[in-house]
Amino acid sequence: MLFGVDWRRWREWPDRFAHVWRTSLQFRTVLLTVALTGAAVLVAGFLVSFIVGNGLYQSRLDQAYHDSARATTDAQKKLDASDATDPEAIDNLFLQVFGDIKNSTTTGLVASFRVPGQGIDAAAPVGVSTFGSGRDVITKDLRKAVQSAPHSVFAQSVALPSSDGSTDPGIVVGSQLQLPTAGRYELYIGYDLSDSEQTLLFVQHTLLIVGLVLLLLIAGITYLVVRLIVTPIRVAAQTSQRLADGDLEVRMPIANEDAFATLARSFNGMADALQRQITQLATLSQLQQRFVSDVSHELRTPLTTIRLAGDVIYDQREDFPPATARTAELLHAQVERFDRLLSDLLEISRYDAGSVVLELEPTNLVRLAEDAVDDMRPLAVTNGSEVRLEAPGGYFEVEMDPRRVRRVLRNVLGNAIEHGEGKAIVVTVDSNQSAVALSVRDYGLGMTEREVAHVFDRFWRADPSRKRTIGGTGLGLAISLEDAAKHDGWLDVWSSPHEGSNFRLTLPRVPGEPIASSPISLAPSDAPRDADDRPIGHELIGAQHDGDDNGNGASRSRGNGRGSGRERLGAWWRGDNRKQDGRGNGRGSGREGTVKA
Ligand code: ADP
Repeated sequence: MLFGVDWRRWREWPDRFAHVWRTSLQFRTVLLTVALTGAAVLVAGFLVSFIVGNGLYQSRLDQAYHDSARATTDAQKKLDASDATDPEAIDNLFLQVFGDIKNSTTTGLVASFRVPGQGIDAAAPVGVSTFGSGRDVITKDLRKAVQSAPHSVFAQSVALPSSDGSTDPGIVVGSQLQLPTAGRYELYIGYDLSDSEQTLLFVQHTLLIVGLVLLLLIAGITYLVVRLIVTPIRVAAQTSQRLADGDLEVRMPIANEDAFATLARSFNGMADALQRQITQLATLSQLQQRFVSDVSHELRTPLTTIRLAGDVIYDQREDFPPATARTAELLHAQVERFDRLLSDLLEISRYDAGSVVLELEPTNLVRLAEDAVDDMRPLAVTNGSEVRLEAPGGYFEVEMDPRRVRRVLRNVLGNAIEHGEGKAIVVTVDSNQSAVALSVRDYGLGMTEREVAHVFDRFWRADPSRKRTIGGTGLGLAISLEDAAKHDGWLDVWSSPHEGSNFRLTLPRVPGEPIASSPISLAPSDAPRDADDRPIGHELIGAQHDGDDNGNGASRSRGNGRGSGRERLGAWWRGDNRKQDGRGNGRGSGREGTVKA
């Protein structure tokens, strides 16, 4: 483990690298800059090295030509000035001139041979060489060139054998000498270039070191410069994230007068405008809620009086002529309805104001269901429906607000009786490790996909002209959903046209603990099935939850949830997506996109 990295896990390196590459602009920029600069430095290094090497070789070549020309001219002058004629004197002269040339060179590598094709002359010296074993460096080509042009100088790059057995770079320069009476002689002088090679190596080393230092410096500078640019971008990203999370006070710091300052100013301007709008909307929403609440409260007193008066008239209806008696009955029914509507409105506005507090007490859901069934039985009998209670589980006490749960039951059961078309109604109570649940299954009208999507909407009714026995306000399920959500529970529905509906309330066994799954399947076991044995129907997940499939595969959409307009606004400006998704506008529809199974 070094630098916090387990280097043995090398298989993960490519992934880590790809991750850092994707996520860090700084890393990307620095790496790209270093790579491109590295390539540029490499090309420049090669170029400089090539130019310097070439220059060094050329200057050494020029020098070698120059030295060789001088030595040859001096030697020729000496030879021309000599009057030696006998073989011995010529031999001595040749050796003396050869020695002078050898002494004038730093390498001491000199060779001279009689140019072939001049006829045999026993008196002419054959030749002499100090190249020793390295005589081969004077190639046939060079010799041919020198032999063919008496007044020219030729040079060739060669590898000169050095004293330690290795070779040194060198040049051999060849020209011709004219020996009196003995004829023409080839002259070859070797020049050592190893000092030039050393210089070139030194230059290359220097270039390498300078290149590496340059790369490091450029990496460092790029890192700092990118940091300078990335930091404000990061600040901008974090600020907008916090703004999106609902921190409306957050603003970007403005430093300097550069482009980032302009960005910060516009961003802050936008945040100001957003904050103003949201505050306005929130105020407006609060005003609306207060208005609804105030109106409901104000209507309460006159309505109570009207109700009392209405009751008196209703009680005496038998004494009235038939037409007046009918009016008294109508008045009574409408006042009742008005009363219910007002109560529902008050309850909804309490939820909107966030002033609802649960009164939890240990409650047995089975007993609660029994009571609700008994209460509703007269209505069921009137509608011709038989209500059956099946409770395989749930015979224990769970902390809940019995008044609110009873209200949910009465509402769902009332709806089942209302829309059950006189067919049987089955109320089921069951429990599992994390939840207790109750479902109300009817075999009545059922609902279409579009109707299911709206079932929890405020004031929504599938068919307002339907015959009503208990007179719905269209707020019943909206309030029930709020009640379920307040308990951290679920209220879901499955429905299919002419196959009936199944409303399911699931509550946590322990308040506040998450529900893993509902003990009751949402799509009932007797639901019609498709070719793949999946239940046909439409489901709406009322309050937000993810799991709980219970093996059913009916088409499903996310409900409007428990929230009110206020909550949705709040959720939105707090950036609370969960709330927005799960419990959006109480008046809004359930999510689109329900797919027919
Ligand atoms: P209401 O006071 O009108 O009953 P709810 O919010 O309780 O208001 O119900 C809204 C609408 O949902 C009802 O008007 C009805 O159209 C539909 N609905 C509710 N329950 C059922 C059901 N079991 N079967 C068919 N439709 C139903």
